[in-house]
Amino acid sequence: MENIDEKTKQENYKRETAIGKAGMVVTAHPVATQIGEQVLREGGNAVDAAVAIQFALNIVEPMMTGIGGSGFLMVYDAKSKKTEIFDGHVRAPKAAYPELFQDENGEVIPFKERSIKGTAVGIPGILKAMDEALDAHGSKPLADLIEPSIEFAENGVPVNWVLCDALKNFEYRLGEEARNFFMPEGKAYQVGDILVKEKLANTYRILQREGVSAFYEGEIAEGIISCIKEQGGFMEMSDLKDYKATVDEPMVGTYKDYKVVSSMAPSAGGFTVIQILKILESFHLEQYDVHSWEKYYLIAEAMRLAFTDKKAFLADPEFAELPLKGLMHDDYIAERRKFINFKTRNNAIDFGNPWKYDSVKQRAVIPQPNDEERSETTHFTVRDRWGNIAACTSTVEHPFGSGIMVSDYGFMLNNELTDFDSVPGGMNEVQPNKRPVSCKSPTIIFKDDQPILTLGSPGGPTIISSVVQTIINVLDFNMDLKAAIEEPRIFTPMGPHIEWEAGIDMNSKGHLEGMGFVFNEVPHSIGNVQAIQINPLDGSNYGAADSSREGCAMGLDETDYQMKS
Ligand code: GLU
Repeated sequence: MENIDEKTKQENYKRETAIGKAGMVVTAHPVATQIGEQVLREGGNAVDAAVAIQFALNIVEPMMTGIGGSGFLMVYDAKSKKTEIFDGHVRAPKAAYPELFQDENGEVIPFKERSIKGTAVGIPGILKAMDEALDAHGSKPLADLIEPSIEFAENGVPVNWVLCDALKNFEYRLGEEARNFFMPEGKAYQVGDILVKEKLANTYRILQREGVSAFYEGEIAEGIISCIKEQGGFMEMSDLKDYKATVDEPMVGTYKDYKVVSSMAPSAGGFTVIQILKILESFHLEQYDVHSWEKYYLIAEAMRLAFTDKKAFLADPEFAELPLKGLMHDDYIAERRKFINFKTRNNAIDFGNPWKYDSVKQRAVIPQPNDEERSETTHFTVRDRWGNIAACTSTVEHPFGSGIMVSDYGFMLNNELTDFDSVPGGMNEVQPNKRPVSCKSPTIIFKDDQPILTLGSPGGPTIISSVVQTIINVLDFNMDLKAAIEEPRIFTPMGPHIEWEAGIDMNSKGHLEGMGFVFNEVPHSIGNVQAIQINPLDGSNYGAADSSREGCAMGLDETDYQMKS
């Protein structure tokens, strides 16, 4: 949202930031935050709130996430001091095969086409992951956590500019059912229109009555399969029934005096965030100005080094041994740092040879086309009065996912199988029951064993750059959290271009151009960070949401719990 006046900016700032001595909820939409806050206020914990928020986001951000998608829910349990990840990432159906995204001549099917077919839909895992997290950590029944969303679905929620923009830009992705729903009589909903979701409310009622098994085996499952088959897919009832979420150890690394805990493969997010930070560590970013060319230069080259590795070496660890030890080895990181010359953009940057520092079997690296559109989904985070944290990035992949809305049940199906390699032969090729490589990076930073910051972002691969830059702004430049989120970000994965946000220092940009970096002509917003900073002295929370959506932070103090609603 650009060009807003000062008054609106201030109002937004008020909505987007909060202090809470005894709890905090930050999501990309006020209704979802309100629902999460209510769960906390009524005695629920961070995981209870996260589950309620996930259901709410399907109502208010249907283009970004929902029960037809996937997610990684990171849970920090304050009592045991343990962090684990409830991995509800999609899996490929049993009938999937490596050439799934190639045509009969062996050519890769163009992205726009391959991403809106029934074959792009992965087995949705978010509900199973949420259910398992609730079993392990929750204190409230699933049915109670669904209830507040049903009210919003039945009474309707005003459409915001984020949904309107998505309809404008991604109308082409909508299948027939979704088009009829979001664009009745061919006219897209406008800001302020009330969008009622009766079918989704009904689906939620079924889940309330029957639990998540209705989605994986019951009538909702039948609805899903028949829609996918109509759109050329081959998912079967048994695929849904056999879906397994996993509970994983997180990826752990260090940056200076901090411990960085983030997502584990099949998400490449944690690895790539940590590798970028490790490459940067010895350059001591804090010696430069936060707007300086040196900062942007170092981040750009570290990002390019880590992204080439990410693309080459990450995959579903159930299917291939990953050279993670090699990738994190100090000598390997030192080797990678040598590509940073402070003179020019290093055109020799490519993936390295982590196998040298690892004992796992070397695998082929197959070049992939760079034709994907950027996905934009959602991240939310909660900290409860006991200090537990739930941080979740969940998705239907691209805006409106595959464009397939499940008839009679009112939710979108993802297109997450497009995160597999489209050219087979590498570790991330399509295989039955396999999970594609993700970039989701729910992250917690610890100092002296205490969590001090939790954050995450949507944005496909840009997730990683948004998370890294926010971390650096807070830890190295001591910025206020909200300012750290708003500080203009860059993104440069593998191609020649740097994507950039408006507001970047023009002298720094010019300097980098002189070094051979090519900036996209037009800036655009990158990611959507939701974060909570924790004061280690008194345990209070500072929550901040990104202004690139209608984000909302709400804090709670102990007194809020006494005046139960
Ligand atoms: N393709 C993304 C992933 O890495 C979807 C998440 C997002 O864009 O927010 O899993």
